[in-house]
Amino acid sequence: MELPRTADVVVVGGGVMGASTAYHLALKGCKNVLLLERNPLFGQEATGKCAGGIRYQFATEINIRLSLLSLPLLDRFEEELGQAIDLRHCGYLFLLTREEDIKTFKANVTLQHRHGVMTEWLDGDTVRSRLPLMRLDDVLTATWNPRDGLADPNGVVQGYISGARRLGVKCLTDTEVTGIVLENGRIRGVKTRKGELGTPILVNAAGPWASQIGEMAGFEIPVVPVRRQIAVTTPIPQLPIDFPFVIDFAKNLYFHREGPAILTGMSNTDEPPGFNQQVDREWELVHFEAAMARMPLLENAGVSSRWAGLYEVSPDAHPILGRVDEVEGLYLINGFSGHGFMHGPACGLLLAEEILDGQARALDITSLRLNRFRKGQPILEYNVV
Ligand SMILES: Cc1cc2nc3c(=O)[nH]c(=O)nc-3n(C[C@H](O)[C@H](O)[C@H](O)COP(=O)(O)OP(=O)(O)OC[C@H]3O[C@@H](n4cnc5c(N)ncnc54)[C@H](O)[C@@H]3O)c2cc1C
Repeated sequence: MELPRTADVVVVGGGVMGASTAYHLALKGCKNVLLLERNPLFGQEATGKCAGGIRYQFATEINIRLSLLSLPLLDRFEEELGQAIDLRHCGYLFLLTREEDIKTFKANVTLQHRHGVMTEWLDGDTVRSRLPLMRLDDVLTATWNPRDGLADPNGVVQGYISGARRLGVKCLTDTEVTGIVLENGRIRGVKTRKGELGTPILVNAAGPWASQIGEMAGFEIPVVPVRRQIAVTTPIPQLPIDFPFVIDFAKNLYFHREGPAILTGMSNTDEPPGFNQQVDREWELVHFEAAMARMPLLENAGVSSRWAGLYEVSPDAHPILGRVDEVEGLYLINGFSGHGFMHGPACGLLLAEEILDGQARALDITSLRLNRFRKGQPILEYNVV
């Protein structure tokens, strides 16, 4: 498909954020939308490399509200878009092994209950009897929400891209955005490797590369890429079908069922920012040692696949969403810091509302604007894994 000469809105980036935004813009009647992705396929960067976790258990009101808006959109996804997304409400279990975490989680669960998210407490013995395949002697307590779970990131991206195309959106791959044309502080157009086009509105949905789009517009977007990696084991026949998404909170270590196998990840808190997406084999050894200590039967499993991807990290681990003061016509949907996949459906909808109606209607997102950092009003989040 040829690059059009003009568009009402150009969306840069074809991961979950760009795909959801393009779809929701078209659904609200904005048809002349162009989505540009530089890779040969959509959804192959952070979105395609993510663990697929979806949860209501968060530590700040805005994240709980985003989940309350987003997860029901995933519940209705197949009906709305005709695309299967392998949705599983297998629950998230946060294992707590330190007294200081229990205090913080008590406050989080109280906040969740206030918003109708009925997370439960399980005592250590209950957790041990529920998960006989894990070694959990040091677990003091755990939080459990059976409505949390998993969904297929590729299905979600494909569903939104196909839905957007049916509504008239042009979605192009192999089209890298290389520059932004500004006039008197406003967006006027976009430069790509295939040529230039005019547009009054640009959406930065470039994920871990968000700050590069900021540089093209002449200001700083404080989003840094940070490598995170995952391994999937060979099949484990003993694995129960209802094995939940388990997070060992103190160790930043997680496990969930991936078909007949286990998918596991562990965040290296010393990982420096950067675009390197090679698997770090040294860190993998640290990760596997911790994983086998928690789940001894992993010692008998092989590794069927492994990969690294990039978190797109903001200074307060919360999204940067909405218009900016610096450039008229530029909108950001960036900085999701490790949990963007699950909030992509809601955030695409909210940004489409802000662009077309002047403000988001389903949820007040003014606290998520970029200018919160200049105003010294960051949001504090605890449950970052
Ligand atoms: C290992 C790992 C595990 C994760 N686990 C979870 C999880 O369990 N649950 C959860 O909710 N989230 C998880 N996340 C986070 C989640 O993946 C991200 O927050 C989310 O996918 C971000 O989506 P995005 O569309 O902003 O970014 P991306 O999916 O990276 O999409 C951005 C796109 O922009 C394109 N692009 C960049 N620059 C340009 C340009 N100049 N021109 C054209 N195109 C451009 C890129 O090629 C890319 O396709 C995880 C992330 C990782 C790395």
